[in-house]
Amino acid sequence: MIDEEKISQITIKFPLIHEMTRCHSVLWINSERKQHLQSDFPFSFTEVEEAKARLDRFSSYIKVAFPETQTSQGIIESDIKEIPAMKKLIEGRRGFKIPGKLILKCDHSLPISGSIKARGGIYEVLKLAETLAIREGLLSLHDDYSKLAEDSFKQFFSQYKIAVGSTGNLGLSIGIMGAKLGFQVIVHMSSEAKEWKKQLLRKNGVTVIEYTSDYSKAVLEGRNQAKEDERCYFVDDENSSDLFAGYAVAALRLQEQLQRAKVKVDEDHPLFVYLPCGVGGAPGGVAYGLKSIYGNDVHIFFGEPIQSPCMTLGMMTGLHDEVSVQDFGFTNSTEADGLAVGRASKFVGKLMEPIISGCYTVDDSFLFRSLKAMYEQENIFMEPSAHAGVFGPIQLISQGKQYLEEKGLASKMNHATHLVWSTGGQMVPFEERQMYLQKDV
Ligand SMILES: *Cc1c(COP(=O)(O)O)cnc(C)c1O
Repeated sequence: MIDEEKISQITIKFPLIHEMTRCHSVLWINSERKQHLQSDFPFSFTEVEEAKARLDRFSSYIKVAFPETQTSQGIIESDIKEIPAMKKLIEGRRGFKIPGKLILKCDHSLPISGSIKARGGIYEVLKLAETLAIREGLLSLHDDYSKLAEDSFKQFFSQYKIAVGSTGNLGLSIGIMGAKLGFQVIVHMSSEAKEWKKQLLRKNGVTVIEYTSDYSKAVLEGRNQAKEDERCYFVDDENSSDLFAGYAVAALRLQEQLQRAKVKVDEDHPLFVYLPCGVGGAPGGVAYGLKSIYGNDVHIFFGEPIQSPCMTLGMMTGLHDEVSVQDFGFTNSTEADGLAVGRASKFVGKLMEPIISGCYTVDDSFLFRSLKAMYEQENIFMEPSAHAGVFGPIQLISQGKQYLEEKGLASKMNHATHLVWSTGGQMVPFEERQMYLQKDV
């Protein structure tokens, strides 16, 4: 716990916090960003390449276990798509141009669990399954992994438990994948988690434990319970390098997609990427992957709800998980359930210091206006959290002039690509969608 005296000192030192507590959406620029990652960076890209290779090995199993992935040959990936009608609408509403292209990375439609968590979460479960099966002599790296769908493997995995704490989507990913392989899965759900997500998990045979408190508590409880059971593996959303590596694979795949779409990224063609941020793992992994590939040519911003700006506070103050949003009087209450996190991951926040360009905050009412507009203009449904990404280009163009000038980007903006990372939505049931779409904002 941090005392009031310290909090008021911090607030004086970082005047932007004052703006934030007055519920303004802000843009914070990270002065620690480096042009390129140093060779002593404490995470190795080899882990990302290994993760990609592991996902390739599992593709024959995924194809059998989840027939929806037949067309992608068992690879869990989403498309990129230009959204010109949405761009036009935004420009009309705001009264300024967003120079360059506006592209959506469609992780709202990732197969199996319909959110960005299908990258890291599923990857971590698969890695665990592979490790256990190889150790037991049931599997070797050169086997056809489709054999993992056999009953004998389900029997084998059913001796093990997987536990996770989640605001919803990570629980869905771990739960659906873990249960399919045969694991016993226990998901500790924070208070924001939507009822339909809990129901869907229970239908899949997953044990759901509900909390009336926020995400940090759900994770803590999960971690403690798992500690007491040596056959229980805990997926640690705050500290997992496997999750991180799984998320980062997205960057290698995106690189291919941009090449195929003939979208240039180089010194004269900057790439701006906007990622919704909760605890930091998903956007952090993607950001690391992109920075490793594109270096100084990529400019990454994380978006957070006005009442849950944990990464903004953690990175700005350098105090990371030593401060929570509640310490500064924020409620951590938001309709963006995936982003309702009061304390950021220190593991991720530290890694992001040389990587991201900054963070911004966004009003919940924007999320709903954007949700409706995206549906009407582009026929795309994204859950509220995912719309934190859409605010990125608006915030950069309206408040980021100094950044663009200092980095010598102002004159290159007509050749820029703005990539909004859509993070979830596919699994949201029809009635919930209607409710969101009819919300009066
Ligand atoms: C989890 C989630 C995020 C953010 O990921 P973190 O790893 O918590 O930062 C963003 N959008 C959606 C829809 C999510 O479920």
